Amino acid sequence: MLGLMQDVDLTLDRLFDHAARWHGATEVVWRAADGVVRRTTYAAAHARAKQVSNALLAAGMERGDRIATLAWNSGPHLEAWYGIIGVGAICHTLNPRLSTEQIAYLARHAGDRMILADKACLPILEQILPACPAVERVVLFDDDDARPIAGFDGQVQSYAAFVAGQSAVCAWGGFEERTAAGLCYTSGTTGNPKGVLYSHRSNYIHALMTLGPDALNLSARDTVLLVVPMYHANAWGVVYSAPMVGARLVLPGQRLDGASIHALMEAEQVTFANGVPTVWQMLLTHLRETGQRLTSLKRVTVGGSACPESIIREFRDDHGVDVVQGWGMTETSPLATVSIPDREIAALPAEEQVRFKLKQGRLLAGLDLKLTDDAGRRLPHDGATPGRLMIKGPTIASGYFGGEGGSVLDDEGFFDTGDVATLDRHGYMQITDRAKDVIKSGGEWISSVDLENLAVGHPKAALCAVIGVPHPKWDERPLLLVKLKPGVSADPAEFLDYLDGRIAKWWMPDEVRFVDDIPLGPTGKIDKKALRERFGGVAFVQAAKAT
Ligand code: ADP
Repeated sequence: MLGLMQDVDLTLDRLFDHAARWHGATEVVWRAADGVVRRTTYAAAHARAKQVSNALLAAGMERGDRIATLAWNSGPHLEAWYGIIGVGAICHTLNPRLSTEQIAYLARHAGDRMILADKACLPILEQILPACPAVERVVLFDDDDARPIAGFDGQVQSYAAFVAGQSAVCAWGGFEERTAAGLCYTSGTTGNPKGVLYSHRSNYIHALMTLGPDALNLSARDTVLLVVPMYHANAWGVVYSAPMVGARLVLPGQRLDGASIHALMEAEQVTFANGVPTVWQMLLTHLRETGQRLTSLKRVTVGGSACPESIIREFRDDHGVDVVQGWGMTETSPLATVSIPDREIAALPAEEQVRFKLKQGRLLAGLDLKLTDDAGRRLPHDGATPGRLMIKGPTIASGYFGGEGGSVLDDEGFFDTGDVATLDRHGYMQITDRAKDVIKSGGEWISSVDLENLAVGHPKAALCAVIGVPHPKWDERPLLLVKLKPGVSADPAEFLDYLDGRIAKWWMPDEVRFVDDIPLGPTGKIDKKALRERFGGVAFVQAAKAT
């Protein structure tokens, strides 16, 4: 027997309708490319988004068409986003930080018909457009006077000209909730980037799942600074969850340095912000150096890579800000676990709670997790045994755009995250490595992440990376690469001595090499692929301190 409740498709346009109707006067604030802080409201942004929809239809765009954005977080970007998805087209968020070859590849792979971009991205457009024949039209968000782009035959318009004269009345939705809404490629640290195709339903459910007090805990009383770029998995879903509750939105544009973020936080009295650890490190350094304070910020969500303990402590002790760590990936929409204490952990002294904040956290409702060995057998959730982290649920990818990568689910329907993790008895998940980075030595796994985190604690280290190098006896052994702080010199033995006693003897790196630079990928993570290409073939020259 079916329930007798109204059958309404969960399409994302409803969230923006809701924000405009019931939180219409709530502001959306952004720092424009010229540095000026501009403002709109949910009601005005909604009207603009409808104009965008009409302009897209007038330009011949149809349901299912991929329309790209190449832009930093701003009010017009948000309007265009809802304008695109409202009429059933797919918003493909391009990351301007990728190389032009990669961006061109993605626009071609997605078959983008249009690109809406920041004027600052013109040099990128000039390079990619000749290689993207499917792109018919370009709209520049912040250009009053758009000129033709060399080598591009299509139309180039300013955003103002694109929407000029368009009606603010347009029927949104009216399609099935499983309709695709967004396309976001993973950064591709392995092989070519692959497209994750979100549906209206999956993003709607993700917004609901992540709003609760044990996750982002957003409300109509919050002013949210969206530091995470909108091209990173919908800014961790906040593009949907903030309008859903009518939170005031502050969008920082391209300036993510400590001083700019701090100025915006204070001027707009931000209460909540999300971002990767690097951004918070820059902010905290700025505050330390200038002696400035955070007067309104209450909570910060950190994710994308492991959150260093110093960030948790400094926010808490110097500014009274609670740091919450989240874990996820583009394929998981992205938020899947959050490090919020349960009843038992909340009762522990504050110092002991930090130990749990350093873990990636507990699973959101509606999802399922398991750990397996390489043969797919389930492993215990004892907080000690590392295994491949597998995940399942309505906000998890079932495959990639264009069938890339083939079938990605195991026979129980779980998606392999490529992460290696432990799960403790409280349900706290802790990432110990990425599967492709874990070092397999004599049948046992060595966590490259643990070694890096420890080694970087050496006072002379600026950055450390650990990769596995093929070894005739043990399959692989760890190589520690160290970028020293400016002006210091060190002996490899100093690092081995430092690690001695902090790790199991068989984890000891077989060699320590000092390097001038450790390459980072476009999302600020250590580019192990590049390191493996450079150092994967080294023959160890130093005997390990203890093997
Ligand atoms: P990719 O880097 O694979 O293109 P994402 O940008 O989606 O894709 O990054 C997802 C990965 O980032 C996760 O699989 C995990 O390895 C890492 N990650 C995300 N959040 C955390 C966290 N809180 N702690 C440790 N690692 C994290």
